[in-house]
Amino acid sequence: MQFQQQHPRTYSFEFFPPNTPEGVEKLRTVTQELARLKPKFFSVTYGAGGSTQERTLKAVLDVRAAGHAAAPHISCIGSTRAGLREILQQYKDNGIQHLVALRGDLPSGTAAGGELHYANELVAFIRQEFGRQFFIEVAAYPEYHPQAKSAHDDLLAFKRKVEAGADAAITQYFYNPDCYAHFVNECEKMGITIPIVPGIMPIGRFSQLARFSDACGAEIPRWIRKKLEGYGDDTDSIRAFGLDVVTHLCEQLLHAGAPGLHFYTMNQAELTTEIWRRLGL
Ligand code: FAD
Repeated sequence: MQFQQQHPRTYSFEFFPPNTPEGVEKLRTVTQELARLKPKFFSVTYGAGGSTQERTLKAVLDVRAAGHAAAPHISCIGSTRAGLREILQQYKDNGIQHLVALRGDLPSGTAAGGELHYANELVAFIRQEFGRQFFIEVAAYPEYHPQAKSAHDDLLAFKRKVEAGADAAITQYFYNPDCYAHFVNECEKMGITIPIVPGIMPIGRFSQLARFSDACGAEIPRWIRKKLEGYGDDTDSIRAFGLDVVTHLCEQLLHAGAPGLHFYTMNQAELTTEIWRRLGL
C-alpha cells in the first residue's frame, strides 16, 4: 500500500453537539484536553433535517470562544434552499469559514422532502450563494456508500462533489487500510486531487461500534469482531486491543502517505489522546 503524499497533513477531531448542560460542560473539558494536541480544527456534527441546528451552532461557537478553529457539519436532506441559506449566513456572520457539507440521513420512516437531494447539489449551492467564503469538506467512502448502485457510481458521485467545489474530503471510518489505498488510487485515476483524509474511529465499546457500523455500512473485519465479542464485558481488554488495532491502522495510513487523520472522538479525549501519543505526533 503506497501512494504519493501530495498535501500537508491535517489532523482534526469530530464532536457531536451535546444535549444536556452536563454534556456541554464535559465537551468544554474535552476540547481543552484535545486542543493540547493542536489539531487544525474541531468539527461538530449536524442532525439531518436541522434537528441539531441550534446545538451545533452553540457547540461550534464554544469551540471558537475557547480559541480554536471549528467546522460545523451541514446536511441538505429534508431542507429548503431558504433554510440552508439562513444557516450558512448565520455561520458566516459568526466568522465560520470551514464546513463539512453532507447529504445527511433522515431517521427511517421520515419522508425525505427538501429541495436538494445529494451532497454535490449542496456544495454547488454553497459556492453559488457564498462564493469561496467557506472551505468545504465532503464525505468519502473507501468501502463505498451503502446506498450506491455500484462502486463506480459512488466514485462518480464523489467526483461530482469535487467538481461542484469541494476542497477536501474526510472518509467514513474503516479498519482495513487497503480499501483506503485502493480508493485513493481510483480517485487519482479519475483526476481527483483534493486531500482525502481518513476518518478514524477509536474502539471504546463493542456494542456501540457494532451499532454504528451496522447503521453506516462500515465493515468491522471478522477477526476484530471475533476478538471484541470474545472480551464480553471486559472493557479494559476491549480498550487495550482497540488501541493496538487503531494505532497500527493509523501508522499504516500515515506511512503510506495519507494527508492526515480525522478522529471521531465521540466527545471523549482519552482514546484519541492515547493513539496520538503512541503515534508520536
Ligand atoms: P452523497 O455524496 O450525496 O451520496 C449519498 C448516496 O447517494 C451515495 O450512495 C451516492 O453514491 C449516491 N448518489 C449521489 N449522487 C447521486 C445521484 N445523482 N443519483 C443517484 N445516486 C446518487 N450525517 C449527518 O446526518 N450529520 C453529520 O454531521 C454527518 N457527518 C458526517 C461526516 C463524515 C466525515 C461522514 C463520512 C459522514 C457523515 N454523515 C453525517 C453521514 C452522511 O450524511 C451519510 O453517509 C449519508 O448517507 C450520505 O451523505 P453524503 O454527503 O456522503 O451523500
